[in-house]
Amino acid sequence: MTLPRRDSTHEVFNQSTPLTGHNVYGGDAALRDALAFNLPGADEAPRAAFGALLGSEAMQTHARLANIHKPELHTHDRFGHRVDTVEFHPSYHALMHAAVEHGLHGTPWALGPGAHIERAAGFLMFTQLEPSMLCPISMTYAVTPALRGNPKVFGDWFAKLSSTRYDGRLLPLADKPGVTMGMGMTEKQGGSDVRANTTRAEFGEETAWGRCYRLVGHKWFFSAPMCDAFLVLAQTNAGLSCFFLPRVLPDGSRNAIRIQRLKDKLGNHANASAEVEFDDALAWLVGDEGRGVPQILEMGTLTRLDCALGTAGLMRAAVAIALHHTSQRKAFGKLLVEQPLMQNVLADLALESEAAIALAIRLARAIDKQHDPFEALMRRVLTPVAKFWICKRGSALAQEAMECLGGNGYVEEHGEGGMARIYREMPLNSIWEGAGNIMALDLLRALRKRDDKNADVLQALDAELASARGANAAFDRFERALFARFADAADGGGDEAGARRLARDVALAVQGSLLRRHAPDFVFDAFCASRLGAEGPQVFGTLPGGSHSAFDPIIRRAMPA
Ligand SMILES: Cc1cc2nc3c(=O)[nH]c(=O)nc-3n(C[C@H](O)[C@H](O)[C@H](O)COP(=O)(O)OP(=O)(O)OC[C@H]3O[C@@H](n4cnc5c(N)ncnc54)[C@H](O)[C@@H]3O)c2cc1C
Repeated sequence: MTLPRRDSTHEVFNQSTPLTGHNVYGGDAALRDALAFNLPGADEAPRAAFGALLGSEAMQTHARLANIHKPELHTHDRFGHRVDTVEFHPSYHALMHAAVEHGLHGTPWALGPGAHIERAAGFLMFTQLEPSMLCPISMTYAVTPALRGNPKVFGDWFAKLSSTRYDGRLLPLADKPGVTMGMGMTEKQGGSDVRANTTRAEFGEETAWGRCYRLVGHKWFFSAPMCDAFLVLAQTNAGLSCFFLPRVLPDGSRNAIRIQRLKDKLGNHANASAEVEFDDALAWLVGDEGRGVPQILEMGTLTRLDCALGTAGLMRAAVAIALHHTSQRKAFGKLLVEQPLMQNVLADLALESEAAIALAIRLARAIDKQHDPFEALMRRVLTPVAKFWICKRGSALAQEAMECLGGNGYVEEHGEGGMARIYREMPLNSIWEGAGNIMALDLLRALRKRDDKNADVLQALDAELASARGANAAFDRFERALFARFADAADGGGDEAGARRLARDVALAVQGSLLRRHAPDFVFDAFCASRLGAEGPQVFGTLPGGSHSAFDPIIRRAMPA
């Protein structure tokens, strides 16, 4: 007689399936509506094809493998020569290949109107697959326009920064079909306050790329160190200046960039973040000597956009997983998604996710319309506001979405599951490229410094919000109170200690006005009722009203396809 096998004695049931094989574009009504509003008439077919690729099991496997096989640093070869290379799992390169092929790095700078909005949508969708390897993609997007500060370098490098061919090898520029770039500002003694940088740049000689300097110093955070080149800050006699620092020099030799070690990070595991020393590394001036901060800030605007887009993408991914799970898991005799209190949580998460997408894509439009004066003002205000508020909400949302999965949300199996990875990644977009306080203070600066460039910031904001006026009493009250506070901030009186409140409230007002314009009324009304009342945004799951009919349309709208 054969005994029954021990593992056949029980059946696994009431567990949800993985969210895979879905279309991250087709299943995202909030993104589709935001794009239809900001880029009307565009062809959706390429987005839908990309969305299917990003939701595929094959790409999810690449994302998982690139995270569990972290990059490894090789400082020397076995003969003792310095090599300073980082080795990545093949899945990392597969992801990079897909991102570059779809033009998420420097490509929009070579295209016409609308390209930055399309790219923003692609970036937001790609984040849902894997956010950390997007770091060099984002930096390449951001440095490309700043590189115009050295027209000769720009002339030689632009075609390959915008090329859609990825090549991860470390080779001279001439031998590569496409390149990536990173940036180095943060030093041990200061990241927010880069004026504290101590890296020195000594002028060497005039060359075909202009003024060449020798850099001696360090960078404490230097992400994606296998990029082909970097923009870095260093001190000259004229002050902090911006430099182009290639890894391979024009004569084919390696530049003296020594990778000391890789950071052991909370998340962001597929991406390498290094500490480096410059040992007489050769670098070329970009922009004017002593004008490094404004030069680098040109880049900062774009990486901050990506922090907002990336967080909105991670939020969407977390909400999609939570909805998928709760539609399959039962407790106390009903599906979780049918339990009234869970419905309140899910609807509230979906509102937050939609508001984040709306604001991030709106900011992308401001960046797309580079030469439109109104959009320039919106870019100035919305960059710090979107980076601050979306990133702040991201971590809270990830925690709540994780809780929707109960214990399974907290657990990974060889990197499978997704929720834990999202949760680890969330705080990063808030910290880098200007942490929360820096963003809030930047908003105060935009409101105070009303010179020729910024004179009409308040008028622009007024025009932006106008279309939602009169549609909801809570919105109208909120907006009136906000403008009363602006007068204070714009006169220089807005106190620093209250800057986060101001940044939050500008974000909420703009989110409300956007939802009025391109979301269904039930989304706009629920957003105003829960975020623009006297209490402000609360813990998730506290939407006023308790009826199934109030929550159900919001949940159905957000359900992944
Ligand atoms: C994984 C990772 C990768 C990174 N990659 C790069 C990279 O590739 N290149 C690069 O240059 N940097 C990189 N960074 C660095 C990052 O940009 C900095 O950590 C960030 O700018 C903050 O600087 P800091 O760490 O020196 O903190 P600090 O500047 O010391 O700030 C600490 C805190 O103080 C707050 N603060 C600062 N000034 C004020 C003020 N006046 N009022 C109120 N609050 C204030 C900040 O908001 C922050 O919360 C990376 C960081 C991480 C975590």
